[in-house]
Amino acid sequence: MICPKCANEKTYVTDTDKSGPIVERIRRCKACHYVWRTKEIPVFNLMDTEEIKAYETYIAQSLTEIKK
Ligand SMILES: [Zn+2]
Repeated sequence: MICPKCANEKTYVTDTDKSGPIVERIRRCKACHYVWRTKEIPVFNLMDTEEIKAYETYIAQSLTEIKK
């Protein structure tokens, strides 16, 4: 991934949170040492209606479990 601050192409992941339905990563630039967060979310237009419903149910259950 390109650094959002200096556009350097050499960046790396320092931490990954896969505990919920959305994967979050902490990234760092090798040139300017800027640190930022990214989120990976599904793109629903490649899924059919049943898959979207199943995923929404999964998210709702995951969020309920996180709150416990
Ligand atoms: Zn940078």
